[in-house]
Amino acid sequence: MSSTLADGVTIGDLGEIALIDRIRHRVPPAPGWVTTGIGDDAAVIEPARGTLDVVTTDTLVEGIHFERSFVSAADLGHKTLAVNLSDLAAMGATPRCVVLSLVLPATMAAADLDMLVDGMLTLAGRHQVALVGGNITRSSGPLVLGMTAIGALRRRHVLTRTGGRPGDELWVTGTLGGAAAGLACLLRDPAGPAEGDGDLAGCVEHYRRPEPRVRIGTLLGRNRAAHAAIDLSDGLADGLRHLTQACGVGAVIDGAAVPIDEGARRWFETQGLAPLDAAVAGGDDYELLVAVSRAHRRRFAAVTRLARGVPITHIGELTKDRALVLRTREGDRALPAGYEHFKTQEAGGRRQETGEA
Ligand SMILES: [Mg+2]
Repeated sequence: MSSTLADGVTIGDLGEIALIDRIRHRVPPAPGWVTTGIGDDAAVIEPARGTLDVVTTDTLVEGIHFERSFVSAADLGHKTLAVNLSDLAAMGATPRCVVLSLVLPATMAAADLDMLVDGMLTLAGRHQVALVGGNITRSSGPLVLGMTAIGALRRRHVLTRTGGRPGDELWVTGTLGGAAAGLACLLRDPAGPAEGDGDLAGCVEHYRRPEPRVRIGTLLGRNRAAHAAIDLSDGLADGLRHLTQACGVGAVIDGAAVPIDEGARRWFETQGLAPLDAAVAGGDDYELLVAVSRAHRRRFAAVTRLARGVPITHIGELTKDRALVLRTREGDRALPAGYEHFKTQEAGGRRQETGEA
């Protein structure tokens, strides 16, 4: 995180009240359904009529999920919210509000906190999400950004991991591998790709600012167009493993159909890595993996038309056989493992396997 010491003030110079004020002044007026917002002991919100609450939480830890040397404060604010919105999208929920848990090193520039909050609020504004409260604590070590997000949806629109059946088609949004290539590039050179390297710059942007698939997630739920869905926070291989385990099925993935990010493909090749394996194993893309019944093809096609240009690709199907198979021109083989592959290769324990509610 580049410290832009505009006023030289650090977190350690400010008391909790001053810090909260600093955040509160940046937050736009809360919607009417927030009865009590930032500044009280807890937030009070009115439930959306006729809906269920969907709650999720996710935490980014310096040294585990990011390094301040190559991710800006504004990017971190964006990402903290994006990873939570991604989980809500995977449930089909419309996001409503978030609470933020900040664990801040005393040496962090107060201006960086401002940028972090701004990065978060910019994404929040795009999805009409209200920041309604939270907590601030000093850290004796790393910067830790925790968030809890609340969304809403109707009972019959709930989209879980568990409903997939043999014969369902597997579809994935966006492209894969971009964030993994971007991260690998940053781990090698925190300054980022050379000027004019548009391919890699796109990958780095993908890693720093994932775009949660909120609209298509809620459309899938509302139109009951999918049997099951999961967001790919830790990559396709990992997500597919979770989804198939939850459904009690296996899967065949058509390697030629996997939408590998073009910039990432070229970069993986220059690194001597097989692009397909790297894209399937790599994490941080935050795309949605969806199981669609053939009987719901029409509904699903309608959703993809409404998805405002988000590409969505048919990559395989669920099978009765519990194996996870990657089909390539050279023949069938087992799907590569997920994150561990990258962990040992590059980051030396950069990331831990984290549980998810
Ligand atoms: Mg998830």
